[in-house]
Amino acid sequence: MELLIINIKELVQTREGTSAYNWVAGSDMDLLPSIQSAFVYIKSGLIHDYGSMSNVPDVSCEVIDVTNKFVLPTFVDSHTHLVFAASREDEFVDKIKGMSYADIAKKGGGILNSAKKLQQTSEEDLYKFALKRVNEIIGFGTACVEIKSGYGLTVEDELKMLRVAKRIGQETPLTVKTTFLGAHAIPKEYDDRNEYIDLVINEMLPKIAEAQLAEYIDVFCEKGFFTPEETERIVLAGESYGLKGKIHANQLNISGGVQVGVKTNSLSVDHLESMGQKEIDSLKGSSTMPTLLPGAAFFLRTSYPPARQMIEAGLPVSLATDFNPGSAPSGSMPFMLSLACVNMRMTPQEAFNAATLNSAYAMDLLETHGSITKGKAGSVIITKEIPSVDFIPYAFNSNAIDSVIIDGVLMDS
Ligand SMILES: [Zn+2]
Repeated sequence: MELLIINIKELVQTREGTSAYNWVAGSDMDLLPSIQSAFVYIKSGLIHDYGSMSNVPDVSCEVIDVTNKFVLPTFVDSHTHLVFAASREDEFVDKIKGMSYADIAKKGGGILNSAKKLQQTSEEDLYKFALKRVNEIIGFGTACVEIKSGYGLTVEDELKMLRVAKRIGQETPLTVKTTFLGAHAIPKEYDDRNEYIDLVINEMLPKIAEAQLAEYIDVFCEKGFFTPEETERIVLAGESYGLKGKIHANQLNISGGVQVGVKTNSLSVDHLESMGQKEIDSLKGSSTMPTLLPGAAFFLRTSYPPARQMIEAGLPVSLATDFNPGSAPSGSMPFMLSLACVNMRMTPQEAFNAATLNSAYAMDLLETHGSITKGKAGSVIITKEIPSVDFIPYAFNSNAIDSVIIDGVLMDS
């Protein structure tokens, strides 16, 4: 299978050497290398060659002429909860009408609502429901996605959720990494929270590790959910089975989650709506990727993460959707770019780096994804005829994507 894309107006995020295999941080985030009037040659699912049209190879294979169109690497969405049983627009309406989070929880809403519905849904149906979202996010230009458990909250249902997530990686074009988030909330039937934490550590975790159902371990480190001490205990237990940390931190409060993430060498700390100077300083020099989820801040009308402050402190940031039924019911990476530019004052170049190279780091995928690099996956977005790359976040919700190619295969649109 070979594919030659020619007459590309601009080929974006072209990187060779170490810059293709490292995150970008600080002022470097504003640099998005590209080649005008370019070609890409994809062979056996990988980027075999690319460059200026003056060097286009003489090969006989399928040719796509994309005059006036841009080509960029597919998006990497490093934080989602896209396996779920049912949407929650009833709570959305309750919130519009002024009901508080506590009132909604009392009515049986929130994470525990999603858990109840998931427990009542068969594994086959869960997969079927998730497939619709999978097809939708491929259309948005996503080729790699991280999927969390955390709506099971029983041994069997957490395993069920992770099996569905793994199956998505096996049976659809998406590259999937899975995360065990048993510590998402404490189910109501536990009077003693330690009893549930023990279940997570001593029963769920060994079974998940044995069945190789997760690469990462996550904890919702937040006031009213899990404390920093509990988070550390759970992440360390995960690490003893080879699962790296990826932590929900500092969404609603300065929770201590960022420092626990750094201390445990977690791969990423995600959310970060509530950040002080101490939290920013603690990330300096660490190997933990700060991951921002502007869809949740938009939907919950909370403050946005201080992206500018983090970038100006020399940190990298990555972007993801947090796709979930309660607080971010959208898997659109292009919309995340718009939110990042408008509400966090990131430049389009910073946003593209955050949604490709840096988010690939946050899923351990820098060897294969995140840039146009020889030997990386032949997964690219072809835009419509647009004036510039900046147009994509600028013209929010105007679909700038013409087609998506994953591992050298053109997706149905
Ligand atoms: Zn989340």
